[in-house]
Amino acid sequence: MSYDTQPKASHFIDGGYVEDTSGTPIAVIYPATGEQIATVHAATPAIIERALASAQRAQKQWAAMTGTERGRILRRAADIMRERNRDLSVLETYDTGKPLQETLVADATSGADALEYFGGLAGSLTGEHIQLGEDWVYTRREPLGVCVGIGAWNYPTQIACWKAAPALACGNAMVFKPSETTPLCALKVAEILHEAGAPAGICNVVQGMGEVGASLVTDPRVAKVSLTGSVPTGKKVYAAAAAQMKHVTMELGGKSPLIVFDDANLENAVGGAILGNFYSSGQVCSNGTRVFVQKGIKQAFLDRLAERLSNAVIGDPLDEATSFGPMVSEKQLNIVQDYIATGQAEGARLVTGGERLQRDGFFLQPTVFADVTDNMTIAREEIFGPVMAVLDFDTEDEAISRANDTEYGLSAGVFTNDVTRAHRVVAQLQAGTCFINSYNDAPVEAPFGGTKMSGVGRENSREALNHYSELKSVYVRMGDVEAPF
Ligand code: NDP
Repeated sequence: MSYDTQPKASHFIDGGYVEDTSGTPIAVIYPATGEQIATVHAATPAIIERALASAQRAQKQWAAMTGTERGRILRRAADIMRERNRDLSVLETYDTGKPLQETLVADATSGADALEYFGGLAGSLTGEHIQLGEDWVYTRREPLGVCVGIGAWNYPTQIACWKAAPALACGNAMVFKPSETTPLCALKVAEILHEAGAPAGICNVVQGMGEVGASLVTDPRVAKVSLTGSVPTGKKVYAAAAAQMKHVTMELGGKSPLIVFDDANLENAVGGAILGNFYSSGQVCSNGTRVFVQKGIKQAFLDRLAERLSNAVIGDPLDEATSFGPMVSEKQLNIVQDYIATGQAEGARLVTGGERLQRDGFFLQPTVFADVTDNMTIAREEIFGPVMAVLDFDTEDEAISRANDTEYGLSAGVFTNDVTRAHRVVAQLQAGTCFINSYNDAPVEAPFGGTKMSGVGRENSREALNHYSELKSVYVRMGDVEAPF
């Protein structure tokens, strides 16, 4: 392999790479071949201590700078990320197995967008002035302090940037723990931020399993925790943060509905369903995995879907012609295969796919089930793989109530050419992000996050600034103080 995937060291702390080989070794596996491409070591208590201490020290200096100065550094980091997009995309492909065709446009580019957007906003953080007769109140928007970010394995660069960019814009420091499955990319984000001028200690990356995340969450120096992960982990992290009344953002899983009415543009609806189920081999939290198709177009939808799936180019993710890559790990592949077996055992009709490919790496065919009913396991649980469940329906009211009949509430989509119906339906869907005649767009300008069990808080947009800062009210009396005695 010509590309050097072994990082200089496991952790990035206080402005530089740091190693401590006494931590548990973590093998980094390239999902397309199963070969080991790097080793990192889990953070020891000494490493965690160094990261938190340096973040705490650096944060005071960082918060004392003007927002414009902080923003300039974030925007410089965005420029560096864009200049190195190809290298960073190749690394993202090695880390996750996602095709280069995707990583070239969806990962470092999305991270750079976040750095640029929040860099631009950093100078505009203000409080307000509230006149009360002669007296007045002013508010100050203040940073929280040291923030911890914990990432899932599907978008390691993007997740690190979506958390670090708004945190740093507001004057916080970040300690980020990537998923042990994809530890490589976040190191590059921290390296680039420091190259762009961020003071040492402002963005630290420590490796490790859940225990490292847990010890960061419970450290009293940490003011806020932002997790991207599953609902079970979210419950644990939220509870641990609550014990010390910490701020949280929880970006968790989903089982989102995508409703296709019979007046929809079929080609666009099929395209939306493909994007919302098979991009990144289906390993996307907001995927529209319950596809409700109105009975009048059900057969046409399934026929066209099968035709278009036959055009998927499955194979070497480093070949830019490849449009569908492997699952991230053998473990995730096994989880998804178990769901496929359960779907068949419970009576869903396997329309296409379902098999592991006979080659190295963790490849699973794009899989579609039809005749899925609401109570089947594959319609209720998050699978997090390339498995689409197609359900059919008769009426609008029925589609809405069945779409909402889930503990999750991350995203939802509607395909229809009836403009009033589109808005009427999304107004009733219980989801943090809805799409009309589209699916899975995630521009940095728009809030992103979940309702119900899918999470708390929002990433991206101006709204994220409220989640990384706190308001202080200052009452100013102009006259004398009148006390009763
Ligand atoms: P996990 O919940 O297994 O892990 C998420 C992160 O939390 C990992 O870094 C993990 O460490 C860490 N972790 C695990 N236990 C603890 C703990 N007790 N305290 C602190 N940290 C802990 O999720 P996956 O990595 O498997 O990612 C898939 C999930 O993420 C899916 O449910 C998906 O829907 C969700 N997701 C949500 C997104 C959103 O924005 N809403 C976006 C992307 C994914 P480690 O794994 O290294 O042990």
